[in-house]
Parts: sequence; structure tokens; C-alpha cells
Amino acid sequence: MADASTVLHTYVIALGSNQSLTGALGPVALVDRALDALDSPPLSLLARSKIIQSAPVGPSKRRYANAVAIVETNLPPPALLAHLQNIEDRYGRRRRRRWGARTLDLDIILWSGGLWTGSNLAIPHVAFRDRDFVLHPLARIAPDWRDPVGGLTVHQLAVRLSRRKPVDHRPNPL
Ligand code: AMP
Repeated sequence: MADASTVLHTYVIALGSNQSLTGALGPVALVDRALDALDSPPLSLLARSKIIQSAPVGPSKRRYANAVAIVETNLPPPALLAHLQNIEDRYGRRRRRRWGARTLDLDIILWSGGLWTGSNLAIPHVAFRDRDFVLHPLARIAPDWRDPVGGLTVHQLAVRLSRRKPVDHRPNPL
């Protein structure tokens, strides 16, 4: 049987920032630094989107810098979550109110293993199907990756979200 540490996993990670850490480290620079961190052992970066800027979600007035990345690693999902939280802490993220400004947010969106459900981790990410700033950049780098829940591809999810958008501007309650 293969040793768990030799199994390679592939993940989609969403990156976001809407608060500067210092004058020199604004949201775009923070997302750029985080992309570098996603290409450092035990992770290797297989693909990444451009960094995009999008309108704020919820009461925060700030604009977001967002990107998505595909990484390969031997870390299973809970260990990857802990690793991403270390990267967030390195860039000064403060865990406060849900829609508040944050220096860096790293979410696990999809996993080559399909579904994961734990007390503090759900893959696919519960809100990714409603997030333009995840689906649109992801559709450019992994259009054929399938949502293991509904079976639609990322491309199909992105098209569906574009069609639905004018109907509902409220922030996602999740
Ligand atoms: P938030 O502050 O909204 O980014 O939520 C962070 C919390 O969501 C973390 O403490 C995680 O335990 C939890 N969580 C659940 N599913 C995921 C996921 N797929 N990726 C990242 N965090 C997740």
C-alpha cells in the first residue's frame, strides 16, 4: 500500500486580500507573495491565474485583489488547511468579522480526491459556486475540472453564474 506521505494531491486554492499589511504591501502585493508561498515546499504551483481586482462583498468598502492557483502537494486536506493558515498568519491576517477587511484569505476550493467533510473543513468550498472572483479566473486555467457535487465543469458553473447575476446582488449568507 502507498505510504500516505507519497500520495500526491492536487488542489484549487483561492486567494484574496482587501487590506494592506504595510504601505508597501497592499492587496495585490500580498496576493503575489502568497502565490510565491504556494510554490514553496511542500507545495508546488502547477498553474495560476492573473491577479484580478473585484468589487467588495458585504459591508466592507474595500476592493479585493483575487487570484486562483492549482497546487500539487503530499499534504492531505487538514494538513493543507493548517499550512494555508500559517501562510495567512505570516501575512498578518486578523480573524475578525466575516465580511471585514482582511490582509490575506486562502481557501481550498477543489481537491483531486473529490469530497472532504470535516468539522472545520469542507471541500468543495461551500460558497465557490456563487463567487465570480473564483469561477472566472479558474475557468481560464481549469475549465474542465468538475464539481464533484453537481457534476458541472468549472466552465459551466462560470457561465451559469454570469447568467444568474443580475437577479441577486445580496452577499452570500454562507
Ligand atoms: P473564513 O474566515 O470565512 O475564511 O473562514 C475560515 C474558516 O473556514 C477556517 O477556520 C476553516 O476551518 C473553515 N473552512 C471550511 N472549509 C474551508 C475551505 N474549503 N477552505 C478554507 N477554510 C475552510
